[in-house]
Amino acid sequence: MNLILMGLPGAGKGTQAEKIVEKYDIPHISTGDMFRLAIKEGTALGKEAKSYMDKGELVPDEVTIGIVRERLSKPDCQKGFLLDGFPRTIAQAEALENLLTDMEESLDYVLHIDVPKEQLIERLTGRRICPTCGATYHVVFNPPKEDGKCDHDGSELIQREDDQPDTVRKRLEVNVEQSQPLLDFYQEKGYLVSFEGDKDINEVFQDIDQKLGELAE
Ligand code: ADP
Ligand code: ADP
Repeated sequence: MNLILMGLPGAGKGTQAEKIVEKYDIPHISTGDMFRLAIKEGTALGKEAKSYMDKGELVPDEVTIGIVRERLSKPDCQKGFLLDGFPRTIAQAEALENLLTDMEESLDYVLHIDVPKEQLIERLTGRRICPTCGATYHVVFNPPKEDGKCDHDGSELIQREDDQPDTVRKRLEVNVEQSQPLLDFYQEKGYLVSFEGDKDINEVFQDIDQKLGELAE
């Protein structure tokens, strides 16, 4: 099952990815998470990525394509993969096509979670994440069982630096512009499936799950 998740920041990609990965047992490959991990570990990649991320800009294609190529070559991707946050540019989408051709694979679906922009600000500013396992919560819409603590490992939840209101607005603007050409690209190729993301987390998952079930038939 070879999948891409698309949607504006806050649309629920990470949240749905957790559920898809659990049910279908494919690795969740988030370029944003990979960059954040590299920053935390203080690697050269992390230092380079940080200089762009802090400004709300994209990390250069060459660097990003390189880490995805390396990740997709790992044995766990033989079962398939769920890409999240990649591709973000047409050059990345084309590079992915070449990578998949080399792997003798092809995409199944590009899952697009569609949410009205007004809701995204509220979702992003209330988002909290677990620094240990990456699980995503929301202070109102998806709170942890114990206030401020991860359900899985009890770690103290944190707010992402780029989830502050000012950065959120800038990221949304940039993302709307960047994502449209990609949605058009995948629509034309017939991979795009859109979901109403303006529903309860479990309802959105049911819709996605129904579509993915068709692949197993
Ligand atoms: P968001 O969806 O909120 O932008 P991500 O976690 O997907 O958050 O990405 C955080 C940052 O990491 C981005 O702002 C960008 O700087 C960098 N990044 C992530 N994925 C890519 C990508 N495919 N190409 C270039 N930069 C990326
Ligand atoms: P993305 O990965 O697309 O940026 P996230 O999955 O991190 O988005 O979700 C952003 C925030 O919105 C999180 O705090 C999450 O708990 C919350 N959220 C996700 N899906 C929904 C939903 N369907 N309804 C309400 N809140 C949601």
